[in-house]
Parts: sequence; C-alpha cells; structure tokens
Amino acid sequence: MPELPEVEAVAREVRSALLRSSIIDVHVRRWDVVTGAARRRERLLLGSGVREVLRRGKQLALCGHDDAVIVVQLGMTGAFGIVAASAPIEPHTHVTWRLDRSRELRFVDPRRFGGITWLKDRHELVDRWSRLGPDALDLHGDWSARVAASRRAIKAALLDQHAVAGVGNIYADEALALAGIRPQRACTRVARHEFDALGHAIGSIMRSAIAGGGSTIRTYRRLSGETGAFQASLRVYGRAGEPCRVCSRTLQSELVAGRTTVWCDACQR
Ligand SMILES: [Zn+2]
Repeated sequence: MPELPEVEAVAREVRSALLRSSIIDVHVRRWDVVTGAARRRERLLLGSGVREVLRRGKQLALCGHDDAVIVVQLGMTGAFGIVAASAPIEPHTHVTWRLDRSRELRFVDPRRFGGITWLKDRHELVDRWSRLGPDALDLHGDWSARVAASRRAIKAALLDQHAVAGVGNIYADEALALAGIRPQRACTRVARHEFDALGHAIGSIMRSAIAGGGSTIRTYRRLSGETGAFQASLRVYGRAGEPCRVCSRTLQSELVAGRTTVWCDACQR
C-alpha cells in the first residue's frame, strides 16, 4: 500500500515530466474508477496540460490549464506514472493519458480502492483538502490541536486522515518508536513536548524514506519498476518478537485501532 513517501515520489516524478508536456488524448477503460467527470472524456484532458502537481497526505492533484483539477488516490494497490507509449498495457490499467514525445501517463489499480476525481476548480480542491489534517511532512506549531483533547489512543489519532494527513500503519509505529511513546497511550496523556517530538519524528522518518526512494512497502511498486531501500532500516514495524534495536528487549505486538501494532515496552512509555 503506497504511503506518503511513495506518493511524494510519484508526485515528483510526474511533476517534472508533466509540467513540460501536453496532453494529446485520454482513454478511459473503466469509468467506475473516475468520479465527477460525468463520463465526459474531454474533461480529463485538463485543457491539454498540467500547470501544477500538488500533494496533501496521500492524495495527488493535477491542476490543469483549464483550472480543473484531477485528484488521484492510489488506495491499496494503485500505481500512477509515466511510461513510453510503446510499453505494454498491463492488466488493470484504467486510464491512459497520451502525452507528447510518445509517452503516456497511466493509472493502474488492480483492487480499485483508489481512483480519480475530477473537480471543476481549485476552490473545490481547497474545500476537499480542508477536511484533511496538516500534511505529515509539515507538522509544526500546534499540529496536534485536532487530537490533543481526544481520549483515543495516540496511534488511532495518527491514522485518522482528518487529524494528520498521510500517516499510515508503518509510519505510525515507526514514529511512535522514535518519539518513545507507547501506541496505546490516550492522546490526553501525551504532553505538549511529546507531541512536538512526535511531529518531528514523523517528519524526519518520512523525509528519510523519501530520500531512500520511497518504499517501505512490499506490495507497492512504481510503474518504472524501481523499489525503495528504506525497508531495511525499520525500527519496529513488522518486527514483533524480534529484539528492540535500542535495548534488545523483545518487541511486543497487539491490535491498536484495528491494526497490527509493534512497540518496545522499555523504550516507549
Ligand atoms: Zn527498546
């Protein structure tokens, strides 16, 4: 499942290519992955090009020359990227944009939890993204305002995209380990300085994952076929029963917020 660093890697890749390209044509193989465009193919041409590529949490937005916006969500299994137009069309390729210089932008999603949403302008995007919490790469000041008064577990709050945009299961466990906070602790029992440390931990882990090429994820692959190198350095995620890298105590695991959660009893309080 693509997490924020993978989505950021996709954003950078398509941004550098799309801002210098024109869209020549678009082909929709499955309209049920597209929301908002009313099956009007020409809407997806974006006035024939993209003027800006934005990201908030795990959502991407392509802002078109006609002021319309296409929001892309990769969901569990989505991939989005630019390939040579001559590359074989792989199964579950739902939307293909033909670009100049014999390239194509493709949206592939086997399980279809992701999708594409057409919005008529930037105001609709601002409105949509105002419902998300602050971006996980940019947590500073009072980022915790939406969660500090909550009685739920801190991990549950981190996974709530309305509280913080872009933290998934892997990064929640990793950041809580780095900040020394036990995932089950109620938000109301997390001190302000601990929220500061946690915001810093989330940002620093996300930035290292981006620098490492983006992938923590077994099931995620870029359309270009590259995989990232971050997986080797995980602190706790996927390591239940193994020794803590700091104190060697056996890492614990249980479900928190319905998700498998791993932590160290000694290093996290
Ligand atoms: Zn430990």
